[in-house]
Amino acid sequence: PMLRVAIMGLGSYGTRVAKAMKTCKRAKLVGVISGTPSKIVDWQATYNIPKKNCYNYDNFDEIKNNPDIDAVYVITPNALHHDQVIRVAKAGKHAICEKPMAINAKDGEEMIKACNDANVKLLVGYRMHFEPNTLEVIRMRKAGEFGDIKFFQGQSGFKIGDPTQWRLNKELAGGGSMMDIGIYSINGARYMVGEEPIWVTAQETKTDPVKFKEGVDETIQFQMGFPSGAVASCLSTYAVSHLDRFYLNGIDGFAEMQPSTGYGPIKGRTHKGPLTEPIVTHQTVQMDEMAKIILENKKPEVPVDGNEAVKDLKIIDAIYEAIKTGKKVML
Ligand code: NAD
Repeated sequence: PMLRVAIMGLGSYGTRVAKAMKTCKRAKLVGVISGTPSKIVDWQATYNIPKKNCYNYDNFDEIKNNPDIDAVYVITPNALHHDQVIRVAKAGKHAICEKPMAINAKDGEEMIKACNDANVKLLVGYRMHFEPNTLEVIRMRKAGEFGDIKFFQGQSGFKIGDPTQWRLNKELAGGGSMMDIGIYSINGARYMVGEEPIWVTAQETKTDPVKFKEGVDETIQFQMGFPSGAVASCLSTYAVSHLDRFYLNGIDGFAEMQPSTGYGPIKGRTHKGPLTEPIVTHQTVQMDEMAKIILENKKPEVPVDGNEAVKDLKIIDAIYEAIKTGKKVML
């Protein structure tokens, strides 16, 4: 059987996911939820979606009565994920949600509870956990090929354009670059180092307070400490383009990836040579693997569920607190 998915939010990433799903073996796009009737008409034609599987933001709770949809993939502005995922859960459908899962850990916990109460899965679009070169570096680290890990450097950023977009609106974005792109360095630090941080420190710089209003961070530099003594030094920014690099060093070796989290191909090398795993479309593999998790009612083998997402949100909460107080924040 195929996992029958409806996409909520037909924007740029929703479109990318829909295209990638065309070559999925286990997942199929069968429905849409959108506030724009003309987009619904376009998507119906492009993806052969029946009228009865089309909803808007007012009526999508009725998806409850639709036996032909198994899961809803929420791909809307960050601050909307919380209420939308809870409504999806209450409609008895599995939820796949884009990153950041929510704009703070408390909201994230509420989403987990709603999905648990409704007995549906909650998975988050952390596509790097399905990317072969990333998985190879994680495998090497687990096999001890880098020796004890001492240092991680994560650099995540892009130059943001249109000042009127939702990403620069605190109400919809929940923050700035950290919520959107810095989260890749947070999640990356956790999977590259293989530990959970116990403290963070952070500093914010803002060169354009007109474009980046109160509560919308332009650039944040942050540091994390891990139980083993390993440390991470990271940068999250909306101020420069092509910032997408991970560097990991242990006692015996290193891994360097650039690009490290872009749509691909992910490139890199270790002290043993170049990374040469197959190039894949991240979203195709992600949706096939998520379909398997949901259809076979399995626990994910890679950390992409709601509990893992909340770990990132707790770190983001701590980073914002560290900036506000100027102090080291324990996790
Ligand atoms: P986008 O602006 O291109 O699309 C957002 C969609 O949400 C639009 O179609 C818009 O019409 C719709 N929407 C619904 N309610 C809205 C409202 N009240 N205000 C504004 N728009 C509303 O954004 P995007 O780049 O597709 O990002 C959507 C989500 O996907 C974000 O959470 C983002 O972090 C995530 N994302 C993830 C990746 C990834 O690689 N995993 C990449 C890009 C975006």
